Amino acid sequence: MTPARDAGAPSQFTGQPGTVSNPLLAESFLIPFGEIRPEHVLPATTVLIEEARAELDRLAFAPESGFAGFLDRLDTFTARLDTLQTVVGHLDGVVSDEHWRAAKQAMLPLVSAFSTDLGMHAGLYSALKAYAATEEASTLDPVRARFLQIGLDEFRRGGAELPASEQARLKALNIELSEVTSRYGSNSMDGVSAFELYVPAERLAGVPERVLQATRVAEGEHAGQHRLTLHAPTYLPVMTYADDRTLREELYRAYNAVGTGAGRDNAELLPRILALRQEKAALLGYANYADYLLEDRMAGSGDRAMAFEADLTERTLPAFERENAELEAFYRAQAGENAPALAVWDVTYWAEKQRLALYALDDEELRPYFELGSVLSGLFEVARRIFGVTVRQAQAPVWHSEVKFYEMHAEDGTHIASFYTDWFPRDSKRGGAWMNAFRVGGPSAGGFRPHLGLMCGNMTPPGIDGGRALLSHDEVETVFHEFGHLLHLSLSRVPVRQLAGTSVAWDFVELPSHLMENWTWNRETLALFARHHQTGEALPDELYARMLHARNFRAANVAMRQYSFGTVDLSLHTRYTPADGDILTYARALSARFQAVPPLPDDARIANFGHLFSSPVGYAAGYYSYKWAEVLDADAFTRFEREGVLNRSVGRDFVDAVLSRGNSAPAAQLFEEFMGRAPDPEALLRRSGLAGSA
Ligand SMILES: [Zn+2]
Repeated sequence: MTPARDAGAPSQFTGQPGTVSNPLLAESFLIPFGEIRPEHVLPATTVLIEEARAELDRLAFAPESGFAGFLDRLDTFTARLDTLQTVVGHLDGVVSDEHWRAAKQAMLPLVSAFSTDLGMHAGLYSALKAYAATEEASTLDPVRARFLQIGLDEFRRGGAELPASEQARLKALNIELSEVTSRYGSNSMDGVSAFELYVPAERLAGVPERVLQATRVAEGEHAGQHRLTLHAPTYLPVMTYADDRTLREELYRAYNAVGTGAGRDNAELLPRILALRQEKAALLGYANYADYLLEDRMAGSGDRAMAFEADLTERTLPAFERENAELEAFYRAQAGENAPALAVWDVTYWAEKQRLALYALDDEELRPYFELGSVLSGLFEVARRIFGVTVRQAQAPVWHSEVKFYEMHAEDGTHIASFYTDWFPRDSKRGGAWMNAFRVGGPSAGGFRPHLGLMCGNMTPPGIDGGRALLSHDEVETVFHEFGHLLHLSLSRVPVRQLAGTSVAWDFVELPSHLMENWTWNRETLALFARHHQTGEALPDELYARMLHARNFRAANVAMRQYSFGTVDLSLHTRYTPADGDILTYARALSARFQAVPPLPDDARIANFGHLFSSPVGYAAGYYSYKWAEVLDADAFTRFEREGVLNRSVGRDFVDAVLSRGNSAPAAQLFEEFMGRAPDPEALLRRSGLAGSA
């Protein structure tokens, strides 16, 4: 129990009419999903914000009233509000309708006003500084000392040390930044929605039947034709499969034009966004925006992230050139010496033809070996052998009949976590796959408090024939990936809630999830669960070999694309100045060397790059993190490869150094504890078939 509870603070609300029966205020470990309705959201939000504000005032008053339990109270006083927000956001994502959307919309301004006040609370900052000067603070254990330091840093990075006039300027910068980036995002979305093209079926030769069906117009003036848009489920298959070269060109040019043109021109907004970010960094005492953002991440600075990109780029170049020569040769052999040079709208199309010629791997061939039930049993068995956890299904209230609930126990029998799974698409559910935490537990005076998490996905649902869900290998990887995040929560033993589980540096958080994906490529592990759902036959060696080969097809091109985004992102957020001229031209020139064929003279990718520019921060100066995480996971997996992929003792080391530690120490230190040294990119290059080519 926390000191705040001991003081009896939260129970003051239980006697109020209207809140007694509000299931969103229930304090039980399990969430009463069966009883929660949209109309409970607003009253519960009001109560919990009132409760948190009252505690915030008491914390700010601590220099006068005393620091008893100060840090632990600071750590936990928003816990109930955090859980409420997660539950409401979650329900709006998985059983959404207009009532849930309205409830969430009503909640958001209240909680964001509260968190803005909290982030700039002068009284709390003074209390933190006063606490840091006490005798008690000098004798804190390392985890709590880190929590205190991070709290002080957050205030400073939010401008708390600035004089009033500069604080006002910072506030204005933040407001303008969210306005301009939101306009950037809308321009991109509007540009995508504004495009449609109706074509007869003849022009879609080569495109898979499922795409033809999905685009066919049933009635009206275009009846019988196909409506093409720039949304990924249409755009990508057309660029990959359509034999009609002029159609591919038309779509490519339309996509390239998104974010440009009168009325929705992102090129006009880019200089402003970069200038605002640079001014903000300078105001807070940093050389550039990347240095400001990366200070508390693993990379540490813009220069280090840039050096990382440059190193990998150099080491990938030879394989990149080889791949491009091979594609060119394949194209010439197929299309003839007189065919036009490969253009940007040809690369994906011909690469797919080349892939089929080389490997002939069809995802559908693998599905019968990956039935969801056996994939999950295999995954849990892997986790048991390596990490010593036991997972078993259990009963709990859920939000939908398809949801399953599990409990996880450690080797010594401790109940460490429970979690929900919700795997299939529904109209009321958002796309993609994700993991989240309803409750972050950990060791406490009253014993271990279990964590409560969830995994969601949009996997291929069970067919009508026999009702089994047969997954593609990609989907199997996704299940393992999300479970990696879940383990990061479930195995956390950090006593400070805000430093526990997945609350780690942005460029470190994907290590456990990426790491788990490795086991889906490993023969020994696949033998545990990859069996034909009807015959029970193990995955044939020949099929496994083709799966491995196809994995690294054009790996250098895939990697160079990532380096290109990372390099442009970091250049814009470290070195670019208005003296460098037009941003579109600048970005186009930088990215040319990363592309298989030269970009269009009017290439405008940077005008439609929401990751970097459609929110105040987003992936700005952080695009490199995708690759960074891959370097970490490939490197970490080498210990399993060397000492045994199902080796319990390596698993224990990984739990002790990483999975149990959350953000209780700097990420670089945790990684070094596990590997005995700093990360080495060689393992990733080797895994992708790119090593030793320099
Ligand atoms: Zn992830």
